[in-house]
Amino acid sequence: MKKLTLNPKRDYTVVHHHPWIFSGAVRSVDGNPAPGETVCVENSRGERLGWGSWSPTSQIRVRMLSFDDGREPDADYVESLVGASVARRASFWVDGATNAFRLVNAESDGLPGVVADYYAGNVVVQLATAGAEYWKGVIVSALQKYVPDCKCVYNRSDVDARAREGLEPATGLLAGEEPPELVEVKEGPVSFLVDVRKGHKTGFYLDQRDARAAVAAYAPTAEVLNCFSYTGGFGIMACAYGAASVTHVDASGDALALARRNTDLMHFCGAKSEFVEADVFKQLRLYRDQGKTFDLIVLDPPKFADTKSGLMRAARGYKDINLLAMKLLRPGGVLATFSCSGAVTIDLFDKICAEAAFDAKRDFQVLARTRQGADHPVVLSFPEGLYLKGLILRRV
Ligand code: SAH
Repeated sequence: MKKLTLNPKRDYTVVHHHPWIFSGAVRSVDGNPAPGETVCVENSRGERLGWGSWSPTSQIRVRMLSFDDGREPDADYVESLVGASVARRASFWVDGATNAFRLVNAESDGLPGVVADYYAGNVVVQLATAGAEYWKGVIVSALQKYVPDCKCVYNRSDVDARAREGLEPATGLLAGEEPPELVEVKEGPVSFLVDVRKGHKTGFYLDQRDARAAVAAYAPTAEVLNCFSYTGGFGIMACAYGAASVTHVDASGDALALARRNTDLMHFCGAKSEFVEADVFKQLRLYRDQGKTFDLIVLDPPKFADTKSGLMRAARGYKDINLLAMKLLRPGGVLATFSCSGAVTIDLFDKICAEAAFDAKRDFQVLARTRQGADHPVVLSFPEGLYLKGLILRRV
């Protein structure tokens, strides 16, 4: 048995079911575990706290797989975790409003480093850690076993986090048949084409589903500016709910090309839609200089802060775009603004938006707060799991 012993007084977080053990908490490791192998975790008094996956090159040295002090997690155990996670999504199949959702949400589903997303029967996985990679075969066959209509399991483990784990990027088919070039999924009244091979994340921003629905409520008759549009998400949903016009702005020509194709899937949407390939920071300034205004503005930027150290720069970026967008809003207009930076807390994001409003000399009401959908759950003992937050604000 491979064993890890914690330094004195460093067992508090594990005892409270936080899944990460940082290098500074580790006193010793016995048995020379291989990357991803399971180690038994003990406190400095030799009491067993559970089992976790060994990541020798990462600052997060261990990610807990089990807080049970009983037997070592084996393939059956990992398979059962995948099965339980998929079963927790049963309502998505029953409800049928969408056929694209997350099946496994890493730490918050008890499977650190493991993400699996479902796109109309095509399952796309991201294995970000040594432990996730170690259990790859078991995870893939478990997904095939438990996902009711699993056509394939496709690997999109081309995430930066793997470098910290000493792992190369890996992509390609793992099981089943090659997925189509573009997978068509539905989200409420809208269909989206998803590029599971080259799209962002596993292909689509599933985590914003609830926010897209919340924003759609303010769409009827609105002139909409959809900043950081990616493949159209918020704007096309707004179109479906009666927006008068939608301007999509994104720096990626590929994303906009797919946004056009997604627009074409919708009746009545094409004539109202405009696609602008530009840097949002510059485009908002251009609209300001042109005196353009909008009824509904969406700001859904990429992650500005990767770590706490990048926080100040990120805060400046968020404040800049929010201030500019606030000035482009007509009286009574609605701003839907988001941050997917884990390091930016809900409180900090509120403060940034409040300062932007102050500098813009405008007042706003909070109409709603959004966060990642229920298929991206956050386990209470792992608050780091909450990364996506949003505010829907009305100019008063
Ligand atoms: N709202 C989208 C997801 C947005 S993801 C949805 O619901 O699907 C962030 C997008 O911002 C990406 O498409 C990326 O190409 C784009 N992007 C990143 N930096 C940008 C910048 N400075 N200007 C414009 N677009 C940018």
